Amino acid sequence: MVHDELARATAAARVAYRDTTRLIRLLSVLGEPARPEQLLDRTLAVLSEVFFTEIVVVAHQAGNRLLAIGSFGFAEDDPVLREGWPVGPAAAEALGTGQLVTRAGLLDGELPSSAVPLGIHSAAWVPLAAELDSEDLLILLRRSRTAFTPSEQHMLRSVAARLRLAVEERERAIVLEQLARYGHLLARHLELAPLLDEAVEMLRRLTAADQTWVVTIDHDQAVLRAHRGLSDADVAEWPRPAGRVDDWRPAAMARSAATGAAVDDRVVLRVPVLRDGTLVAVLFAARQRRRPFAPGAAELTAIFANHLAVAIVNAELYRRLQRRATEDPLTGLANRVLVGQRLERALAGPPTAPVGLLFCDLDRFKAVNDLLGHEAGDELLQQVGQRLRRSVRPTDLLARFGGDEFVIVLDAVRDLGEVAEVGHRVSGALDREFRLRGERVRVSASIGGVLGIPGQTTASAMLRDADAAMYVAKERGLGQVEVFDEAASHQALDRLDLRSELSQALDRGQLEVYYQPIHSLGTGRVVALEALLRWHHPRHGHVPPEVFIPLAEDTGAIMQIGDWVLGQACRQLARWQAELPADPPLAISVNLAGAQLRQTGAAERILDTIRGAGVDPTHVWLEVTENTNLSDRVSNAAEALAAAGVHFALDDFGTAYSSLSYLRRFPIELLKIDLTFVAGITDRERDRGVVRAILAIAESLELTAVGEGIEAEPQRAALAELGCQLGQGHLFSPPLPAGAATTYLRGNAPTKPLPTG
Ligand code: C2E
Ligand code: MG
Ligand code: MG
Repeated sequence: MVHDELARATAAARVAYRDTTRLIRLLSVLGEPARPEQLLDRTLAVLSEVFFTEIVVVAHQAGNRLLAIGSFGFAEDDPVLREGWPVGPAAAEALGTGQLVTRAGLLDGELPSSAVPLGIHSAAWVPLAAELDSEDLLILLRRSRTAFTPSEQHMLRSVAARLRLAVEERERAIVLEQLARYGHLLARHLELAPLLDEAVEMLRRLTAADQTWVVTIDHDQAVLRAHRGLSDADVAEWPRPAGRVDDWRPAAMARSAATGAAVDDRVVLRVPVLRDGTLVAVLFAARQRRRPFAPGAAELTAIFANHLAVAIVNAELYRRLQRRATEDPLTGLANRVLVGQRLERALAGPPTAPVGLLFCDLDRFKAVNDLLGHEAGDELLQQVGQRLRRSVRPTDLLARFGGDEFVIVLDAVRDLGEVAEVGHRVSGALDREFRLRGERVRVSASIGGVLGIPGQTTASAMLRDADAAMYVAKERGLGQVEVFDEAASHQALDRLDLRSELSQALDRGQLEVYYQPIHSLGTGRVVALEALLRWHHPRHGHVPPEVFIPLAEDTGAIMQIGDWVLGQACRQLARWQAELPADPPLAISVNLAGAQLRQTGAAERILDTIRGAGVDPTHVWLEVTENTNLSDRVSNAAEALAAAGVHFALDDFGTAYSSLSYLRRFPIELLKIDLTFVAGITDRERDRGVVRAILAIAESLELTAVGEGIEAEPQRAALAELGCQLGQGHLFSPPLPAGAATTYLRGNAPTKPLPTG
């Protein structure tokens, strides 16, 4: 009896001793300073030893599988370590209740496949956290049929609690490794949507959150642009009204970082995604409040956020590249590439849905560019683009086609009438003046329109015809709209040929210089003749200089043609001066395109031509318009010419963007009053006022005034009375071919006063 009791006491003492030694060993392992992953491995090894188990493993629940975080007893290459194993009933119970579960006997359904052949008879599943829905288990498997005793279980519970920290560290290390391995893979997404989708999924895995979502922020628009992982309703409601970007400052977020802020029954991590210090997106991860995030989760998410920032930048870069291919960088409108694509798509539709096309070319845009500079010109194009945008339907494609040309593709229009209607609306949108760097600028557009029936025409034919219609509109004057049906398109094609034919016009002898006398309004004598170019086209007859001079400027042909006109005119002057000597001698006035002054060596070239014709430069007037760009090069050329004695006349004064500084900066000696003012001088008070003002300017700057387009005696008289010294116009003579001009000069001997009245 006593012996039995002694034996029991001894046994108990032995067990207690054994348990105590085990605990001491375990505690000493857990207490030793070691890196977390080493600690985990060593703890598992000691556990295996002191509990006589074949296998000890710490596993993490991922869905319905368990994945080993650390293990002892499996072969290193055991597939179980890679792939995990199904959550069995005992494991499920332990995970669900947070309570330790033991089993002894047949355990097949509970074990990793590679443990089955070992003949495991006893097992324990110990949740690492003593709470519901724990996710990590310490699992011990042994062959011995002995069940885990209460004191062993007690010991395991306290070991598990201590292991938890080490496991969290280990988990974090694994996640970091994943991040390092896969984070940059985010950047393989070129589109934002799939990128964000993957980010949401990766973030969920990294933080083991119940729910994750990403919101991107567009600061320009002050809106949340894309949100993944949340419904629209969620975004508006939770975690706080998301409409105001102000609330999404990184600083405000930092406060809630660390382990997340409590919202409702959840804990929410909010981590900013920054690019160059600017918030581009916010990452969210939420977990049930009773299962807070592991320490360091915010830090981890921040690392992830860096990866995401890079990927978002990439996606944006790609989007921009893609856009650049189809977008006009200046106006942000579509470019010609997109016009072609869109037209082709529309023309592939049913014949019942005709396609409209409008071709708009700004009138006198070159003038704005030349006068106010290219930057102002660019700004004007942007403003025009915005106005046009508002004048068409959102579904219509508005594109900048190049230079000052805009194109509008109208999907599904009724008929040509509707195309014309839109054309007029577009034209009307430009009526109001533009504000450009403090200056008020007016522009109009010449607009050509066509209708295309799917199956009957092509994109390029439509573009060609609309362009032709635009040219016809341009010839009719400023701000005109012209629409073409089939027949008109064919006729108009001829006009397009003008451009290419112009370069050969000179060689083919189709150009001729006409001369219009310029009289002194006081004495009536002819003081000079203006050279005016004529193009006799074999098919089109007389092509007006207003049509072909701008074309020549566009194509560059103006250089050669301009030189030729100057040479012709000077040679003619030399002949007249020889035949009809006068004092002061007769002068010649020649129109000069801006480009002629811009070319290198302009002054030398012009003086060579003048002197080569045997003419004294002081007998030459060069007419420039205010549209001539006042670059340094132009000013220098003008100064050099003026120094050689050439006189400059400012043509069409009052019609362009008059600026008095122009008069100061250009060596002008003559002002030509545009014929539109002269036309109204006798019956429009306003025109009379303008002429009076121009003459006052001329007088104060000591310039000689020339009235243009004088058709009737009262106009001449009015000009003379207001103090205009010189004049030209049909009243005296229209421009004449050289021969007729010679006859005219003979009949109006320079010394003989012209009969007036
Ligand atoms: P511009 O230099 O202002 O020339 C005056 C225009 O008024 C000429 O038109 C002339 O024929 C026209 N005209 C003259 N008297 C009267 C009149 O009493 N009534 C009316 N209604 N019109 C009159 P044109 O010859 O058609 O030339 C038009 C413009 O073409 C010229 O305007 C000039 O800017 C340009 N141009 C002509 N020849 C040349 C040239 O050789 N080189 C350059 N760069 N431009 C030229
Ligand atoms: Mg002129
Ligand atoms: Mg003029």
